[in-house]
Amino acid sequence: MAIRNIASLGDLSGKRVLMREDFNVPVSGTEITDDGRIRAALPTINNLVAGGAALVILAHRGRPDGAPDDKYTLRSVAERLSELLGKEVIFFAEGLDEEAVAATKALEPGQVMLMENIRFYSGETSKDDAEREEFAAKLAKLGDVFVSDGFGVVHRKQASVYDIAKQLPSAAGLLVEKEVGILEALLESPEQPYTVVLGGSKVSDKLAVIDSLLPRVDALAIGGGMAFTFLAALGNNVAKSLLEADQIPTVLGYIEKAEKLGVKLILPTDVIVASTFSETAEHRTVTAEGIANSDLGADVLGLDIGPETATVIAEQVLSSKTVFWNGPMGVFELSPFASGTKTVAAALTKVNGLSVVGGGDSAAAVREFGYKDSDFGHISTGGGASLEFLEGKTLPGLEVLGW
Ligand code: AMP
Repeated sequence: MAIRNIASLGDLSGKRVLMREDFNVPVSGTEITDDGRIRAALPTINNLVAGGAALVILAHRGRPDGAPDDKYTLRSVAERLSELLGKEVIFFAEGLDEEAVAATKALEPGQVMLMENIRFYSGETSKDDAEREEFAAKLAKLGDVFVSDGFGVVHRKQASVYDIAKQLPSAAGLLVEKEVGILEALLESPEQPYTVVLGGSKVSDKLAVIDSLLPRVDALAIGGGMAFTFLAALGNNVAKSLLEADQIPTVLGYIEKAEKLGVKLILPTDVIVASTFSETAEHRTVTAEGIANSDLGADVLGLDIGPETATVIAEQVLSSKTVFWNGPMGVFELSPFASGTKTVAAALTKVNGLSVVGGGDSAAAVREFGYKDSDFGHISTGGGASLEFLEGKTLPGLEVLGW
């Protein structure tokens, strides 16, 4: 089924368009350190503004626990959005009651208003359907139609993502349409060879996607903290590296499944270890032989893939026609452990085909290394959402838009 697009909503001039965006940007103090998600929202916002709509934007940042918490205010997001649009963005922090409804009705065509963090209200994330629907009914008074453009939240069954779309005429924005189009191509008809590179800290977050990807990929490379559970499953001593021991049986099952399906499974053959999690920690490379001989050293942590592994993954990426990458290869935030992630990122920029960076930390990493979005086929704004999409799951925020 196709997803409903903005055109399906008809002429929007003079209407109030209630939008859901993903403005969950990383912030240090009050400084936004990566505004990629705000930039990704601009095409739809500009399109609607040009069409004479008045915009009322809902978004969240962090996990404020259903109550106002100044640490998670969207004030600085409103400022950055205003800079990027080159026009005023009215920031509304006075609740969602009558006053808010009146403020939205007073908007002129082309004006943009951002409401304070929607997760300051417990109805937004409530697990109780009736409670969420009631909250969505309140939100529905803020607009005449609803446009869902926060791809990073479409896997959430939340009031401003899911329930609201049932209460107003609704459609996907340009970003959601684009993300779905690209990920659909990866899910249904990736050009071969298709390689997936997974990293990051938690293997348990990615088990479901590994299971559903194995029958569809030519190669699967595993780096980051999650690689140590694979190395441990193969009988290596991983010392104090990240390990999810309870996942070992499942991981062993995947190693066998990969072999049966003829999938090339690339695991680290060398790793960079240090005794502490710090920028100044003394570090060294442990080779394949060292890993096999349980030679990591009892009190060290594996914090990056080694240069040999990084080269093997980069070569695999370069020989592929389709590559999806989610999760850093090491603790890229600390410079001694950023090389693996840098090498893989560099290879992705040179793929002769489609390269997709899947959200969150990997997107932040490539921008931190100085790459532009245009250096890749696509940088998804949604980490969890893109993984769940590739698992073939039904995502509530897309299902409700007709997908
Ligand atoms: P995730 O949210 O699961 O994608 O994990 C991202 C985080 O994984 C980043 O903050 C990295 O610093 C971290 N990470 C990557 N490799 C390792 C490792 N070997 N040990 C500990 N943390 C890691």
